[in-house]
Amino acid sequence: MTVHSLGVEVSCDGPDEQTDCPASAAVPIRFGSMTPRQVRADGREDGWTRRRRAGRLVDLCTGCAAP
Ligand SMILES: [Zn+2]
Repeated sequence: MTVHSLGVEVSCDGPDEQTDCPASAAVPIRFGSMTPRQVRADGREDGWTRRRRAGRLVDLCTGCAAP
């Protein structure tokens, strides 16, 4: 998860701890979404999920969330 001070980007953390997202996916931000909470809501509409992994929350794109 990466949050930039200029705008917000929620990027995929990859299928597991050692593997980066093969697509380097980031949530496409809809107009008016300014905060990480809003951007994650955008992502959920596109099928993104949040999971707890090793004690922290990770964001997963549809490709990496697939079993
Ligand atoms: Zn991914």
